Amino acid sequence: MPVIGCTCAVCTSGDPRNNRTRCSLHIASPRTSALIDSGPDLREQALREGLTVVDAVVYTHAHLDHIVGFDELRAFCWHRDTPLPMHAGPKTLANLRTMFPWAFRTTYPGYIKPDPRVIDGPFAVGDLRFTPLPVEHAGIETFGFRVETPSGHSLAYISDVKSIPDATRRQMENLDVLIIDALRPGAHPTHMTIEESLATVRDLAPARTFLTHLAHDIDFAETSAKLPPGVALATDGLKFVFQRGDSCARVEPSPQ
Ligand SMILES: [Zn+2]
Ligand SMILES: [Zn+2]
Ligand SMILES: [Zn+2]
Repeated sequence: MPVIGCTCAVCTSGDPRNNRTRCSLHIASPRTSALIDSGPDLREQALREGLTVVDAVVYTHAHLDHIVGFDELRAFCWHRDTPLPMHAGPKTLANLRTMFPWAFRTTYPGYIKPDPRVIDGPFAVGDLRFTPLPVEHAGIETFGFRVETPSGHSLAYISDVKSIPDATRRQMENLDVLIIDALRPGAHPTHMTIEESLATVRDLAPARTFLTHLAHDIDFAETSAKLPPGVALATDGLKFVFQRGDSCARVEPSPQ
């Protein structure tokens, strides 16, 4: 947001929280730096957040708003001796190979050097443990991820989802943080509405929830005022910290 050429109240709003880039998540422990997705705004986001080291990239699915910043990942390859691990489902990996063929067949200095890793079950990136969460979204292979941190906390990130199968839902219990798709108030064929996301929150009862993938139908202040306790809209640059022994994630800075 804003959407090119759109004159709606949200796109023309002066509230910086209505200025939103495409969604992505960076998870860091003292030993590990993992990035979920490489969307079209990756360059701007990495510069904004001072992100200079990535140990692995983990992909949710092959829609353009999650992969098209792929070539920007070359900057994270320059400081490495080995190719950059990229964890993705088999269909997402096949799409990456088709869209960015040069990356997978050349060793030209300065190019991106991927190390493709097919997701076929739980996997680790350094000291972060990932469990893939298969979800329904637009009829294509799509994962959310549950991540266990060395501090003993767990979060789930599901950026794009219309419905969550029961088997996946069972892997989403006892979450400290849930970050979930809530595209807009009105029904959509491939994304959850705010109400559908809130129903999921009521069902799973995570300690804290952030709604993401927000379209321009959502005015930050207006929608935030209607959300139940423990649920907030995500903002660009939102950070939260898990500290060993803390029962809850600490948000930095506090959302207004
Ligand atoms: Zn608009
Ligand atoms: Zn998608
Ligand atoms: Zn998306």
